[in-house]
Amino acid sequence: MPVRAEIQHALIDLYESLFARFGPQHWWPGDSPTEIAIGAVLTQNTSWSNVEKAIANLRAQDALDFDALLKLGDGELAEIIRPAGYYNTKSRYLKHLANFVKTLPTGRLDDLKRLDLADARRRLLAVKGIGPETADSILLYACDMPTFVVDAYTRRVLSRHGLIEASASYDDIKRLVEDALPRETLLFNEFHALIVKLCKEHCRTTAQCARCPWEHHPHDASP
Ligand code: SF4
Repeated sequence: MPVRAEIQHALIDLYESLFARFGPQHWWPGDSPTEIAIGAVLTQNTSWSNVEKAIANLRAQDALDFDALLKLGDGELAEIIRPAGYYNTKSRYLKHLANFVKTLPTGRLDDLKRLDLADARRRLLAVKGIGPETADSILLYACDMPTFVVDAYTRRVLSRHGLIEASASYDDIKRLVEDALPRETLLFNEFHALIVKLCKEHCRTTAQCARCPWEHHPHDASP
């Protein structure tokens, strides 16, 4: 493994290379913090295009808020979000999240912003169905809090470039990035979105390294 200063240099170089090529990504695609949080649950194990269909269905039913979600029957909600897949499970998860938000002082996600980041994260992680990636997505994109979102794409890019071990945990990768970069919401917002863009365009299951914005950094993209 490279030493810490090399990792820091590499991560800064990755961010700058991606930003120079792709520019700002304007994430998260959602009209309100509630819609972003709902999208973060719906996107588990499915593509964003399927999430968009489920969100369009929720919008058509005037159900893009937590009160409205809680008024729907479990089967009814599952049917509305069916395009997102795993709809029975996700219907339950959305209700767990909605019930959690209703326990906050004003019953809104904004209440999390008044908490220490670690405390807000710990509370979200205690909600059934909210894992680290979903919690960090909600905190970063719905609550504007400076936490880095790790996903399979992050793991793929960093391991192909020898910055993490294949066995690195979610929290190991998160800490590596957060310790290397300034803890800024906008930077973490863009970095995650840029990595997603990189993996859709170049760092696919079979890497397309030619003309990749990080091609200049040493890598091993063999499957
Ligand atoms: S496509 Fe190749 S050069 Fe680009 S990030 Fe992936 S492994 Fe690195």
